[in-house]
Amino acid sequence: MDFSLPELTQRMVAVVRDFMRQEVYPLEADFLNTSFRDMLPVLAEKRAKVKAMGLWCPQIPEQYGGQGLSLLEFASIGEELGRSPLGHYLFNCQAPDAGNMEILIQYGSEAQKERYLKPLVQGEIRSCFSMTEPAYPGSNPVWMGTTAIKDNEDYLLNGDKWFSTGADGAAFSIVMALTNPEADSPYLKASMIIVPCATPGFKLVRNTSVMGDPGSDYASHGEIQLNNCRVPQSNRLGPEGSGFVIAQERLGPGRIHHCVRWLGICERAFDLMCTWAASRSIAPDKPLSTRQIVQAWIAESRAEINAARLLVLNTAWKIDQEGSYAARDEISLIKFFVAGVLQRVLDRAIQVHGGMGMTDNLPLAYWYRHERATRIYDGPDEVHKISVARHILREYE
Ligand SMILES: Cc1cc2nc3c(=O)[nH]c(=O)nc-3n(C[C@H](O)[C@H](O)[C@H](O)COP(=O)(O)OP(=O)(O)OC[C@H]3O[C@@H](n4cnc5c(N)ncnc54)[C@H](O)[C@@H]3O)c2cc1C
Repeated sequence: MDFSLPELTQRMVAVVRDFMRQEVYPLEADFLNTSFRDMLPVLAEKRAKVKAMGLWCPQIPEQYGGQGLSLLEFASIGEELGRSPLGHYLFNCQAPDAGNMEILIQYGSEAQKERYLKPLVQGEIRSCFSMTEPAYPGSNPVWMGTTAIKDNEDYLLNGDKWFSTGADGAAFSIVMALTNPEADSPYLKASMIIVPCATPGFKLVRNTSVMGDPGSDYASHGEIQLNNCRVPQSNRLGPEGSGFVIAQERLGPGRIHHCVRWLGICERAFDLMCTWAASRSIAPDKPLSTRQIVQAWIAESRAEINAARLLVLNTAWKIDQEGSYAARDEISLIKFFVAGVLQRVLDRAIQVHGGMGMTDNLPLAYWYRHERATRIYDGPDEVHKISVARHILREYE
């Protein structure tokens, strides 16, 4: 394993770190106390600055308008961006757009790339990804109700989706639908189809309120109805029935993106926890940092974050070398392990801050609400643990 970064990437990390401290952290007070929509004008200004600095879309190959970093290189940048709730959006590497860009690069036709990928990478449009359905278990993604039936040159889509992050204001969704329900293998029944959100029959029913946040624009989770929604068959990504295979490909690098963002959150929470512990006194000349229980939280958090980072780098390195399929166990391990570390570190940081930790003066409470979902989306903890254990036990049975 080699986690060393080229000198150019190291310099890029330093520039990003500086930019985050000087230009992004100061926006957080407003962000935490208004809606995403209210922030759009100032966020657009910062996005333009990121572009001008040559840092835009660091994870996308240069030929498509990004900076061409490998997954391992992006891990260091993504961690810096994760230190603020605004970082990934400002650099145009936020989920689900980043994953959709990767799918379009890998499986999109030239026409699909021109129409959907180009403006997405430029940041002119946003997209969403619609797989999960209210009436079916998202943790078993081969079982779903949405269908895409052929009608002459088109598909007619029908079904209900929910939790399509960023659907509010998105230009298109990549929809998972059954195209081959008769296929023998459950893994070959569905396809991914690009559906422009303005298509008649595509209805954003509502933004589902999550943990007290009604959501708007990019920061929302949409419920969608597809009612005889007609799109050309040329909107399908990859061969018919390949939706599940593409989803697996997408979720590998996607989980690295999530995990490095969570590492950034951990580091910021850790920094806030230590700063507060050293400066907040519980009696004259008795800062919180003199209490052994606080010291234990600090040491435990440091060990857990360092361990999590090594696991993530190892996984990114393996995907870069051998692809997502070879790294599937590592991907499952980081998905549940890093999510757990994140929640423990955030909880300790809030506890050390007392009442201050519950306020929206700091991003801790925001993260505590929003990041509970990390143990659920892209596969609940239980599913990842079962998958890894099954592979391990095969050797013993
Ligand atoms: C904030 C957020 C954003 C999301 N964004 C998107 C998005 O952009 N696009 C999209 O398509 N989806 C998205 N999702 C949906 C997400 O991927 C699903 O919620 C997830 O896959 C779980 O599916 P489910 O909610 O249907 O839970 P279910 O599948 O019904 O599972 C419920 C619970 O049962 C348990 N469980 C499930 N299977 C097993 C098992 N085999 N063994 C033991 N226990 C089990 C787990 O504890 C699980 O949490 C998002 C979800 C959230 C919360």
